[in-house]
Amino acid sequence: MDKMNRFKEFINESENIVFFGGAGVSTESGIPDFRSKEGLYNQKDIHFDKYSPEYLLSHSCLKMNPKVFFEFYRQKMDVRNIQPNAAHFSLVELEKSGKLKAIITQNIDGLHQKAGSDVVYEIHGTTKENYCMQCKREYLEDYIFTSKAEIPMCKCGGIIRPRVTLYEETLPEQVVNEAILAIRKADMLIVAGTSLQVYPAAGFIHNFSGNHIVVINKEPIEVKLERGKDIFIQGAVGEILKQVIFIIDT
Ligand code: NAD
Repeated sequence: MDKMNRFKEFINESENIVFFGGAGVSTESGIPDFRSKEGLYNQKDIHFDKYSPEYLLSHSCLKMNPKVFFEFYRQKMDVRNIQPNAAHFSLVELEKSGKLKAIITQNIDGLHQKAGSDVVYEIHGTTKENYCMQCKREYLEDYIFTSKAEIPMCKCGGIIRPRVTLYEETLPEQVVNEAILAIRKADMLIVAGTSLQVYPAAGFIHNFSGNHIVVINKEPIEVKLERGKDIFIQGAVGEILKQVIFIIDT
């Protein structure tokens, strides 16, 4: 049996599926990932070249060099006009079927919710929520992206920052606990569009002890799979999910 049919069969026989995704889930919407050839880390940008991408998205940069942080953030992280793709929409269907119990995403673009998914754990936060670092007042993302000020400032004088987990920061505890619990309860895990190189997020999948893991990625990645139980499918996640999910027997 070919891999697509086995994937379909796994979905049919599973009742508690969890999806764990990364930046590759949103590349088909036009948002570059970090590590592939067209990714942000391989783009030449004279203006930002003297800094590493990890620094530009770090807590140190926000604290010590906020003008640079917001210039980079506004240029690269403004996803307000981006639309979900076939990967996001297929997962909405799988959730509706009752089989998909949770989506755990490393992405900060809010596209799963925009597509209509309900249970989404954003373990690296979201660009949709922003708050003043001093008084904690909440601000809409439009404020950060349209504010004329080089550094978006609150009325109280504090800096307004996105609720995303930057390098050097810890992940949101409650979301992380819920995500890990979902993986522990799952009988099938779909891992897609992630290089599994960003920790601790990448380690989450080790909590899975169900029946099948299906990994979908454009390029091979390092991940431990069990022969006969798990499969790796090389390709575009939107294309693959669209083909498989719209033909399941629900
Ligand atoms: P990564 O860039 O390290 O890896 C992405 C992986 O997805 C690569 O292995 C690539 O080959 C694969 N890929 C790209 N397009 C694909 C497609 N259409 N189908 C299947 N595979 C595809 O990303 P990561 O592992 O998620 O880690 C980077 C961190 O940066 C994460 O926290 C991530 O969410 C964040 N980030 C988020 C966004 C976003 O919110 N959209 C964008 C860039 C980075």
